[in-house]
Amino acid sequence: MNYDQLDDENYGYSFSDPWENRESKLFKFAILSIIAASAVFFALLSFTVLHTFLTDNHQAQIEKILALPELNVYSVEKEQPSIEPTIPIEVAEAKPLVLPTEDIEPSFKQSLEPIWQKHTVKSGETLSTIFSHNGIKQADLISIVHLPAGKKLFDGLKPKQKIAFQVDDNHHLLGLKYYKSSIDTFVISLKEGKYQINDEKTPIETRMVKAAGAIENSLARAAKKNNIPNKIVMELAEIFSWQINFKKDIQKGDTFSLLYEKSYADENLIRVDDIVAAEFITHGHHYQAIRYQDSNGLSSYYTPEGESLENAFLRTPLKYSRISSPFNPTRMHPILKKPRPHYGVDFAAPAGTPIRATGDGRVNFVGQQGGYGNVVSITHNHSITTVYAHMRKFAPKTYKGKRVKKGDIIGYVGSTGLATGPHLHYEYRIKNKAVNPLKVSLPKGSPIPEIKLAQFQQTAQQLIAELDGQAPTRLAEN
Ligand SMILES: [Zn+2]
Repeated sequence: MNYDQLDDENYGYSFSDPWENRESKLFKFAILSIIAASAVFFALLSFTVLHTFLTDNHQAQIEKILALPELNVYSVEKEQPSIEPTIPIEVAEAKPLVLPTEDIEPSFKQSLEPIWQKHTVKSGETLSTIFSHNGIKQADLISIVHLPAGKKLFDGLKPKQKIAFQVDDNHHLLGLKYYKSSIDTFVISLKEGKYQINDEKTPIETRMVKAAGAIENSLARAAKKNNIPNKIVMELAEIFSWQINFKKDIQKGDTFSLLYEKSYADENLIRVDDIVAAEFITHGHHYQAIRYQDSNGLSSYYTPEGESLENAFLRTPLKYSRISSPFNPTRMHPILKKPRPHYGVDFAAPAGTPIRATGDGRVNFVGQQGGYGNVVSITHNHSITTVYAHMRKFAPKTYKGKRVKKGDIIGYVGSTGLATGPHLHYEYRIKNKAVNPLKVSLPKGSPIPEIKLAQFQQTAQQLIAELDGQAPTRLAEN
């Protein structure tokens, strides 16, 4: 629909109007004029009335709108003088707010935190005597001692340990710090009227340390001269024990350098850790060792190329022993008095001496077997079997099928079976053929796993460069 059509329809109707004669036209005009004048008059009247009403209302509204912010600002300022006013974000961004800083006077703030009084425990002192000497309420002591672990903790108080406490004006304990060790600080604090103990551990930081020395007469003296801890010297000798005989081989002029770790808690040395890398130069040979930790967290040492420094087998199952009967396939048996080959080595040792598995493997026999007495047999890789006989008893949890590691204790020396005295009969068999365990060429330990090798070699090169002083040092000063 459009407006033209609408007009045609409405006004088209007037063509048939009864006012269509001349005389009535004048009358019609007069009537229309009166109506029009009235209409104008009423319209003006209405407008005036309405305008007055609307204008009054509008004015009132404007006044209301204008007045409200003033009232609001006034009331906010009066009730919350220090709270930042609510401002549109754009304004806040343009003019950053300066927050009130003088809500609490600094001097008043400081006086809220009583000072920590320090005390070093003297011989014979207990927490009770420390409390009474410092005038702290005994009731607070009782509360602390009755805390879970509270008594046990302070029974361990030792001379030279340090504590610190905070007391209010009424001699009431507010807080106590007990520096039990360089790692453990026990903090007692008052929370909602009750004491509570927290063990605050000092984070441990491990630092690498470089050390070096030259042999004049012994490794021990060279180490001492260079402030190398005993633990590290022992480790160094152990690491290269497969390559170097430290009793016979080393000579004046041999040199060594090593990287090892120390752990600190808040600048206090808490322990000497292990060697990370080491180099020993003797008779012109450079022996190098790099630590590698396997997925089980066990550390072993390898050449920078990733070969094991250790043999896969210990030469002997006993740490200290005397060979009482060597490997001898044509021997006369001492008890049976007839030719009887001896397919093992006998190690004499006091009854009860621990017996170590000489290599990684799996126990395939535990029990008694004729002249062997109590015997354990272990199968290893490389088609090797080892046998340990005449045991007094087996180590706990030694059972058929158990996996053992080189050096694990499997039993104790005894004289069960055909034995004249306490000794260990030890056999080393390759494809079930006995060989002399003291002469056999022992297989090397497993190298670094193939998948880890590239990463290991890269780390090893960096460590060797540091050992040789060719890398920017990332070591601690000491
Ligand atoms: Zn024997």
